[in-house]
Amino acid sequence: MLYLFDIDGTLLLTGGAGTRALNSLFAERYGVEGAMAGVRAAGNTDPLIIREIFQSKLGTDPSRAEIDDVLADYVPRLRRALSDAPKFRTMPRAGETLAFLAEQPRVHLAIASGNVRPAAWAKLERAGFDGHFETGGFGCDDADRARLVERAIERGLENGPGKLNRDEIVVVGDTPYDVRAARACGVRVVAVATGTISRDELEAAHPDAVMNTLAELPAWHRSVTLGV
Ligand SMILES: [Mg+2]
Repeated sequence: MLYLFDIDGTLLLTGGAGTRALNSLFAERYGVEGAMAGVRAAGNTDPLIIREIFQSKLGTDPSRAEIDDVLADYVPRLRRALSDAPKFRTMPRAGETLAFLAEQPRVHLAIASGNVRPAAWAKLERAGFDGHFETGGFGCDDADRARLVERAIERGLENGPGKLNRDEIVVVGDTPYDVRAARACGVRVVAVATGTISRDELEAAHPDAVMNTLAELPAWHRSVTLGV
């Protein structure tokens, strides 16, 4: 099995560190206060979040170069914000569940997240989860979530088992966007209601399973792999 984990709302919540980093960046560089107000972060990718800020707050469409420029400035700001984020927290049993999966035979872990790669790693390091992951698909691979999940699949397979059937690949995320991206790639998907999306909304997206927390994932893994 290859598990592809989303980060925000699934493994951890930064307690507003990402929002603070972008707000400070847009205030200093563009004179925009409250850049993230009204911008959807959950399930979105970093390049699309930045495009949305440009469109809604500056009334312009940024070039790819402008987005890359903002992202380069965002990462060190995020690192600083993460080092002083009292509300940063890992999701219930996230560490234990990753440790459980890592010990299972023929299980491989990778990331499928809208964060750009260095932002993803900054968050995973802050949580102490970085040791479980070597690769993945990220917001810098593609602004479109389904395409970044496809990259996560390619890299996860290259780094691990080489080849798997699509039903042996599982996206784990906290939004309907994770569910849709997984479906577009023809893989399984588990939704956890630990982010900002309610259990009802997640169920409406028809994932293979909806869980209250990652504490339920080990039992699901056993039932899927052992057929019990
Ligand atoms: Mg998420």
